[in-house]
Amino acid sequence: MSRESASNTEYTSDGKPCQTKRIQARMSDVGGIPVARTLPTKEQRTIGPWCFLDHAGPVTFSADEAGMQVGPHPHTCLQTFTWMLAGEVLHRDSLGNRQIIRPGQVNLMTAGQGISHTEESVFSTESERELHAAQLWIAMPESEQDSAPAFEHYPDLPVINRGDVTLTLLIGEFAGQTAPTRTYLPIVGIDMLFDADDEIPVNLESDFEYGITALVGGFSMAGESYEQDELAVLATGHQQASIGANKGSRLLLIGGKPLVKPITIWWNYVGYNKDYIRQAQEDWHAQHERFGNVPNSNAARMQGPGVPWR
Ligand code: MN
Repeated sequence: MSRESASNTEYTSDGKPCQTKRIQARMSDVGGIPVARTLPTKEQRTIGPWCFLDHAGPVTFSADEAGMQVGPHPHTCLQTFTWMLAGEVLHRDSLGNRQIIRPGQVNLMTAGQGISHTEESVFSTESERELHAAQLWIAMPESEQDSAPAFEHYPDLPVINRGDVTLTLLIGEFAGQTAPTRTYLPIVGIDMLFDADDEIPVNLESDFEYGITALVGGFSMAGESYEQDELAVLATGHQQASIGANKGSRLLLIGGKPLVKPITIWWNYVGYNKDYIRQAQEDWHAQHERFGNVPNSNAARMQGPGVPWR
């Protein structure tokens, strides 16, 4: 059995066996930053509405490196979700927003019918030339594919203490708390920081599927151990998971109701049919007003390839 297909039988609340899947990250590069990508993969396209998961860094830049420099590019029918662990990144978008994101904060950009943005490292002090972040995309429902874009910054998120584990609720509901983060579909995202070696039970929604990955360290679940940047996928039907990790480990738990209608992801677009995505790319190339312009951007506008469909 290959490592990619290794699985471990678990049992759902009604006694049926179900599987945990192990996904290995692919290494990629985004604007000069090494990233470990665990969604989408051929084994797992989405987890609930989460459809893209990049773990960027940790990386420390030398004095002659500019850090992250992502030029103007478009999005449709998705939310870009950034969870910052170290460093600072300046977000600018075609709505005129200009927001630095710092550790412990979430930036959420809602594309709807279209938006464009840039992301650049900011070095407030020379000693802080680093970057460590999780960048995810959340698919929006088809009913929102033509809705107005938006951007929100969330500097304060609910914190739940469970013994030696600090849970930060990034989006959705958990343990009686609700994050302020804008949602369209049933979803959850939780940061788990282990201040000591520990194992804690985490209540799950039985109609959600879940993914768990280590941004620092590793973890264990259902008798399996997972290293940094492996993604454990838990199918629907679970009411609880027992998650263990060593001191210093930092985990990201994501989940949601499985998408009813499959999405297409192509370049920076999400859509429910190829014509929508083809039109988006034609409009971006034609500098159509639906994507606007990012003010004061020095970086080159990203063009993207032509759509692969006739
Ligand atoms: Mn983007």
